Amino acid sequence: MTHDTAILKAQEIASRVLAPSAGQNDKAGQFSTNAVEALGKSGLLGLMLPVDVGGSGLGPRTFAVVTSTLAEADASVAMVYLMHVLGAATIQAARSGAAQAVAPILREIGAGRHLSTLAFSEAGSRSHFWAPISRAHRNGSGVRISAKKSWVTSAGHAQSYVVSALAPEGAGPTDSTLYLLSAETRGLSVAGPWDGLGLRANASAPIALDECEVASDLQLTDDGAGFPAMLNVVLPLFSLGSAAVALGLCRAAVAGTTVHLKSAKFEHLGQSLGESLPTLRAQLAAMQIDTDGLSARIDDLVGHLEKPQETTTLRVLETKAAAGEVAISVTSTAMRVCGGAAFSKHLSIERLFRDAHAGAVMAPTGDVLREFIGKSLLGMPLF
Ligand SMILES: Cc1cc2nc3c(=O)[nH]c(=O)nc-3n(C[C@H](O)[C@H](O)[C@H](O)COP(=O)(O)OP(=O)(O)OC[C@H]3O[C@@H](n4cnc5c(N)ncnc54)[C@H](O)[C@@H]3O)c2cc1C
Repeated sequence: MTHDTAILKAQEIASRVLAPSAGQNDKAGQFSTNAVEALGKSGLLGLMLPVDVGGSGLGPRTFAVVTSTLAEADASVAMVYLMHVLGAATIQAARSGAAQAVAPILREIGAGRHLSTLAFSEAGSRSHFWAPISRAHRNGSGVRISAKKSWVTSAGHAQSYVVSALAPEGAGPTDSTLYLLSAETRGLSVAGPWDGLGLRANASAPIALDECEVASDLQLTDDGAGFPAMLNVVLPLFSLGSAAVALGLCRAAVAGTTVHLKSAKFEHLGQSLGESLPTLRAQLAAMQIDTDGLSARIDDLVGHLEKPQETTTLRVLETKAAAGEVAISVTSTAMRVCGGAAFSKHLSIERLFRDAHAGAVMAPTGDVLREFIGKSLLGMPLF
């Protein structure tokens, strides 16, 4: 698969599978297994995995376009896709001691038959995902883990979960280790429903781990090396993917608002809303400007990830922080411009508005990112 064919496949799935059911799945809070099946068949689940495990070996540039294309049709599915890509990247980066055990899983992902995700956030440490409360305890050559994972995208639908826990002998709050748990692991269960304000169709439910046994060859990082993996493997792609989801939402908001301004009429004036009111045209223009600004910011981050520079970490932090705000601002403007039609849920704009609010809440949250950026500019330690 090439960059261009990946985008064509994403566009085809977005229009054939995602767009027709996004509204209904949102209303019902229903996870789209059809979407995951289509993504698997198309090869997009293995997009960034190496060719030797059946992946396409494509990079962040393609990942960003594929994710934003999916998000334009259904941000819930795009978030499922994003968390899967992060899970796959973490599995692929596994330490050498796990290489043999994860190889068949990577091949399953490459073949499009395996969905993964991340289970980092815990009820006890909330959005501070880098500081798990749970601790792995030695159990023969493996470990035993009990944990309350508070939000796990694709909970109950993924075939595997990349789970964090404090290392058995870890001394500090960030001395974590990452493990791979199959959905079949005894003691792993979905611990509650998912009924969010937005991204309602992505099953971000809590997961309980009750004395789950994990063999040593499914320990993905060395003891205590979970935190650097979160920062180096997960965070850059998460920032890029979150921004791509935000971009898809903004583009959908601009498109939906444009259609409404052209089609809704003041019959007594013989004009459409857009023809009649300069203020609405100006607000639409502002939405477009912000959307294109976000697109340029994403291109900039892609460039940084392809060719890291001194400022790359700063860009990683800035991009997710900025994207969350832009998505809220653009979709809020769309709500105002489309007025009662949006408020009364006659347009998909209100779904975009609700979905857009997830980005800033998902950790690292916008507030935390601004705190990190400020500290980093002042030369202060981040943790
Ligand atoms: C749709 C969705 C999907 C998710 N999927 C996953 C997933 O797949 N895997 C996973 O591990 N997690 C997932 N999460 C969890 C997410 O990453 C966060 O951990 C969670 O949303 C935090 O929620 P909270 O409000 O309890 O955080 P809290 O920590 O209670 O935050 C409350 C407020 O305090 C602010 N705040 C917190 N700390 C600071 C600080 N140091 N400085 C300034 N402000 C601060 C926050 O910005 C927020 O405004 C998901 C969340 C959502 C909404």
